[in-house]
Amino acid sequence: MSTMSLRTRMIVVTVGATLVACGALIAVGYEINRREVEEAVRGRAGAIARRIDLVVGEGSAFQTQESVDRMVASESFLAAVVFSPGREIIAVSPSTADLGPPLTEWTDGPSGLREVRIGGEDAIAVAIELDAGGRAWLAFDRSPYRDAERRMRLAWAVAGSTAVLIAVVAAFIVSTVSRRRIGAVRATIERLGRGELGARCEVRGPIEVVEIARAVNEMAERLSGLFRELGNERSALEQQVSGRTRELEQANRLLMDIANRDALTGLANRRRLEMELERNISFSKRTGQPLAVIMMDLDKFKICNDTAGHLVGDNILRAVASTLRSRVRVTDLVVRWGGDEFCILVPATQPQGAIAAAESLVDAVKEATAAIPLPEPLEAPTASAGVACFPEDGEDPHTLILNADAALYQVKATGRGRVLRYSPGYSKD
Ligand code: GH3
Ligand code: MG
Repeated sequence: MSTMSLRTRMIVVTVGATLVACGALIAVGYEINRREVEEAVRGRAGAIARRIDLVVGEGSAFQTQESVDRMVASESFLAAVVFSPGREIIAVSPSTADLGPPLTEWTDGPSGLREVRIGGEDAIAVAIELDAGGRAWLAFDRSPYRDAERRMRLAWAVAGSTAVLIAVVAAFIVSTVSRRRIGAVRATIERLGRGELGARCEVRGPIEVVEIARAVNEMAERLSGLFRELGNERSALEQQVSGRTRELEQANRLLMDIANRDALTGLANRRRLEMELERNISFSKRTGQPLAVIMMDLDKFKICNDTAGHLVGDNILRAVASTLRSRVRVTDLVVRWGGDEFCILVPATQPQGAIAAAESLVDAVKEATAAIPLPEPLEAPTASAGVACFPEDGEDPHTLILNADAALYQVKATGRGRVLRYSPGYSKD
């Protein structure tokens, strides 16, 4: 039963209930029919009994038998047995028939209808109490009543079958409608399961389906609300993450800047030069463009520090840095190599141009330091510079720096405050 479909259940239950109802109605119909038959038989028997009463009251036993015989012969009943108040049979008609019990027996108490056979015929008999005392059994032809029973049975069979048919059709229609409504609710649940949170059930049909549809719709509303909240939280989180990412990127840029910059002068540092020199040499190798490295060092700077103090020395270094930065091309890179030493990367420049640029920078430094007030008799420091050119004086960063440094050393050794290009013949020793 539990695996039966709704339609089968409804049909089984409805047909079962209809059959039970029909059975009860047929039983009631039989009872009504029986009572009607009994009433009709008793009515006919009563009328006959009154006439028998008259005969019994007035005549002898022989007259009674005669009168009863006449009545049986003339009336439409089959047989009669008359008992005296002393319970003796005083008349049996037709006398030739074998009536047998129960018609020839006295029975105490009220008797119902009895079905008997007389001369091969179906008969129905009833006992009537006589006014004169005694009793009479009267038997009638059963066939008229049997026809009525048959008609009644047919009427009930037709009514019962029609009721069952109507019940089946009604159950079919109701179950089809219910199935359709349940199917619609199920389809909505499946859509919700696939993530279509806007899906809602139509609130129609039997009350049970309406209640389920309402429950599903409420659940869908709550789900939609939860997903909205989740979406809001997610976008807030995404904003927070992208904010943090921006902050991190800024911090990284700052860190990179700090890592590549000299703290005192704000110039690029040696680390940055190494990266840029590598990159520029690769580019020059590909394109055939020349480039140069200028290594510059302040002359006798230690004396400045020792005489005027480190703070003044720092100021001189900052002034030199800003002079160099303002005098080079935007494509050049000025680097504080360390201490009082600076390096200038000069891309896309022939050796002649690089030497000229170095000389111009040496002059500019001289001018800049001269403008700084220094205690007497301290003289403003000048600058010396060595130049190494790619590819003639070196084809890799290390060699170029080394050779520019060697040229600078040569300047320091042979007379400060000027510029020399690297010459392979010169040795520090
Ligand atoms: P030379 O002409 O041979 O270069 O003589 P010099 O005195 O300049 O000698 P050298 O270049 O070897 O000395 C560099 C001096 O620079 C040593 C130190 O006192 C000074 N110095 C290095 N870094 C700093 C700095 O950050 N601030 C200051 N004020 N002085 C520095
Ligand atoms: Mg120096």
